[in-house]
Amino acid sequence: MKKIEVKKSKPKIILLVVGMNVFSILLVLTILLYITNIKKSILDNYNNQFQDEITRITQLGFNQTVASMERNDLIDYLKTKNSGLNNEMYADSSLFKSDYIGVYGLDNKIINHTNSAKIKEVDFVPKEALLALNKSGKSRFYLKTSDGIIQVFGIIIKKSNDTINPKAEGYFILARKIDLPFKQRIEKITNSTISVIGNQKNRAAKNYILQYKVDLKDYKNEFVARVYFERPFEKFIATILKSLYFILFISLLLLLVSFIYTEKWISIPLNAITKALETGNKESIEILKNTEGDFKNIGTLFEENAKQKSKLVKAKLKAEESDKLKSSFLSNLSHEIRTPLNAIVGFTELLMNTNLEDEEKLEYLSVIDKSGKNLIAIIDDLIEMSKIESHQAKPNYTAVNMESCIKDLYDSIKITNKKAQKIDFKLIESKKPAPYPIKTDEVKLKQIITNLVTNALKFTEQGSVEFGYEIDEANNRIVFKVKDTGFGIDENNQQYIFDRFRRVGGDHTSKIGGLGLGLAISKAYAEMLGGTITLESKLGKGTEFYFIIPLEYVKSQKITVQSVNELTISKGEEIGTILIAEDDNINFLLFQKLMKGKNFRIVRAENGQQAVDICFNNPNIDLVLMDIKMPIMDGFEALEKIAPIRPNLPIIAQTAFSSNEDKDRIFKAGFTDYITKPINRERLFEIIDASLKKKVS
Ligand code: ADP
Repeated sequence: MKKIEVKKSKPKIILLVVGMNVFSILLVLTILLYITNIKKSILDNYNNQFQDEITRITQLGFNQTVASMERNDLIDYLKTKNSGLNNEMYADSSLFKSDYIGVYGLDNKIINHTNSAKIKEVDFVPKEALLALNKSGKSRFYLKTSDGIIQVFGIIIKKSNDTINPKAEGYFILARKIDLPFKQRIEKITNSTISVIGNQKNRAAKNYILQYKVDLKDYKNEFVARVYFERPFEKFIATILKSLYFILFISLLLLLVSFIYTEKWISIPLNAITKALETGNKESIEILKNTEGDFKNIGTLFEENAKQKSKLVKAKLKAEESDKLKSSFLSNLSHEIRTPLNAIVGFTELLMNTNLEDEEKLEYLSVIDKSGKNLIAIIDDLIEMSKIESHQAKPNYTAVNMESCIKDLYDSIKITNKKAQKIDFKLIESKKPAPYPIKTDEVKLKQIITNLVTNALKFTEQGSVEFGYEIDEANNRIVFKVKDTGFGIDENNQQYIFDRFRRVGGDHTSKIGGLGLGLAISKAYAEMLGGTITLESKLGKGTEFYFIIPLEYVKSQKITVQSVNELTISKGEEIGTILIAEDDNINFLLFQKLMKGKNFRIVRAENGQQAVDICFNNPNIDLVLMDIKMPIMDGFEALEKIAPIRPNLPIIAQTAFSSNEDKDRIFKAGFTDYITKPINRERLFEIIDASLKKKVS
């Protein structure tokens, strides 16, 4: 099992984030409290100051005006009603800064008054106001007249020496209109902006503006108008407050960021862990893997765990599947072996009955022959599969003439496979035959195609089976195609048919028989040759297998078309001497029977040593059929001894070992050809023909 590396954990992010959150919350709360307090106290402070200032300034204005009105000459004026004061003097704004002056006698009747453009109305002071003035001695009030809002100052006219308990002799009234210049003057003095409104509505407080309202009242203390004094707050205080707000904003931002990161680094990964634990959810594992630090490691562990788990599940399924396949294979194998064996035993027993007609005998023998061959094929497949699984099977590359290879294959299948004679079995002519030999393993290539073609023939009841190859130079490959119009393979089963022991297709397949190894062997071989096998199939319509291998020409060898010059061994004069090196009497007998009727002289050697001796002493030996496993000296050693002395003598190996590796070994040793036991008659004569022809040419 792979060891998982877990990085040492980074600084505790969790603690950091939690700490940051707590710190941010405390910071924000402190700042908020501080700002609220400081803002309130600053504003209160400044507001008080402002109000104080305004009150003092307006009071100062009142006192000054009143002081300027307390003049001794006014009493004389009351007496003379004229001299000493003239209109211009009353109108002198530098003295009283007034728009109107009125002088009243004790009878409340106006004695004299001034006029100005601003205040045109005369005698606008109500009698009750004068009566009140009589009691208070001096007063300031406001009136709404036809000229607008008027500020009125009143003072009693008294004798100059009458200070302790002054007695009114008359009334001196001074009025100013509250107009723009007046407002501007007050604004300047109070360093504020002034707005006068006719109702008692409160104005909304403004940010960073100090606000103070003064209600103007008449002599009965009744509302006349409201004056708002407004002054911008001190700038630096505003800046301080702004800075505090900025700090607050940053703190909030910090808090938000820490919340987001808490979510990102803690909540989300923790949720992901829960989900991964509960369901093994892949997305959650991805989330953890994409998170920094400890969680990343946890994610990696989860992933590794999930992989192991899925591997285990797969392995378990495979084991169960394999178990099932094996038991079905065993019963299949037993059936596959029993069928030919039963035939062999049964027909042999029948043959023992001497009363049989020749024709019947031949028929039984052919059944035995076929059954024997079937058994050999089964054993071959089993051995091949076990070699593939133990990685003993290796490709043996040679230069292969593709045209003749495919043609030979077609011919041999056509002759040997009964089904190939029943249905339309065709070779697809290639559009462009391979111009050079191709580097591949001919034996394995033939095996793959044979498997595909025999399957196609097996699983096709009517229609056609065809195969062939095309050179695809553009893609540097050779594509072999095997097409049939048979049962076809259900789409769901197509992925399984290359598994060993796997047989699909239900009834027809079990009737047809087979071990389920052909395609597994073919696939393994195809991969060994650097190729692939794919298929297209429709149930009930047929199947097309494509077997593709890389194209590699062996350009040093040109393909020459050989004329098929048959050299058939026929009855008549003796055409040669064959040495059969065979220790087994029955096998030798079989050879003798097979050769019966052919014009060969046959010489026997019972071991390798004898074979060597006979070859040395008989230059007329034309061909040797050499058994591999013999006492005293085996076939390989005998060949080694004979070959240097008789280099042109065809020596054909005959062996019960039939694996590809055995064949490779035989060819490597220098045998001209080989034939496997049990000996096939046609193949034997094909080989003898070919070898003798070689010798002749
Ligand atoms: P076997 O032929 O011994 O059963 P194979 O490995 O050669 O084993 O094939 C596996 C299975 O694939 C067969 O049992 C059959 O169900 C299916 N199959 C293979 N070739 C064909 C084909 N040409 N048409 C229909 N089915 C096929």
